[in-house]
Amino acid sequence: MLIIGSHVSFGKTQLMGSLKEALSYGANTFMFYTGAPTNTVRKPINDIFTTDAYEIMNEEGIDLQNIICHAPYIVNLANRNDEDKYNFSVNFIKGEVSRCEKLGITKLVLHPGSAVKITSEEGINNIINGLNRILTPECKVQILLETMAGKGSELGCTTEQLKQIIDNVTNKKCIGVCLDTCHLNDAGYDMQNFEEYLDDFDKQIGLDKIGCIHINDSKNPKASHKDRHANIGFGYLGFDALNNIVYNPRLEKIPKILETPYIGDTDESKERLYPPYKFEIEMFRNKKFDKELLNKIRNYYKN
Ligand code: FE
Ligand code: FE
Ligand code: ZN
Repeated sequence: MLIIGSHVSFGKTQLMGSLKEALSYGANTFMFYTGAPTNTVRKPINDIFTTDAYEIMNEEGIDLQNIICHAPYIVNLANRNDEDKYNFSVNFIKGEVSRCEKLGITKLVLHPGSAVKITSEEGINNIINGLNRILTPECKVQILLETMAGKGSELGCTTEQLKQIIDNVTNKKCIGVCLDTCHLNDAGYDMQNFEEYLDDFDKQIGLDKIGCIHINDSKNPKASHKDRHANIGFGYLGFDALNNIVYNPRLEKIPKILETPYIGDTDESKERLYPPYKFEIEMFRNKKFDKELLNKIRNYYKN
């Protein structure tokens, strides 16, 4: 069975709100941030929303194990120029881990970090040190390092770098990887030749370490190091390559999460944006590209 969903908001009713949004897209999984991805302000987890969500998930046959949390992307474990800031980052991710534990979520996606004014070697060592402080032996959450596009001084944009981090994390069962198809393309991997990428990943790290896949098209050609997501079939990867990844038998049990951009209205004065996920998910279920997709989305949400 295809396990597919999208990024959704967490909002006022927390897991319940995320679940309802995901169901409105016809999804059977989803990914959320516990607050704004761009800041570190977080509200405590409310158990009532969580148990209500569990009840509906039960009815809908949604497996909690497939639901993904994403840490905010402003936390940078690679940067240790300021020890107080570094400690804040470590403690913040510890907080994210315990929020996940409270929600029963077992997978937390993390951008490894950026080497600002330091060498990548130093950056990687800071990430390893940070992860070893976060991932205690009692930890019930697996941190999934996301494959990055290599924008600026981003780390984790090669399989080798991810392997180096994972090899040096003590608590091996609590570390894994989240592939992102747009980022892989932008980092220089050929997504038309995904089997080759997977074979190499398997040799270096092991396919069992893949815990999630972000399915995005890219606005830029291979090796552009840009990180700008495009709607499915409307970028350089194209529908067929992405559809092959979604249905790759080696990744059957891995949740697929869309992080494609919202669609603007054709009437630009309206400044309205529509989520594409219901229609992109449907396209994957039908295994067929719909070149009228963007207009369909606008018409559906317009009124
Ligand atoms: Fe991400
Ligand atoms: Fe991503
Ligand atoms: Zn991205």
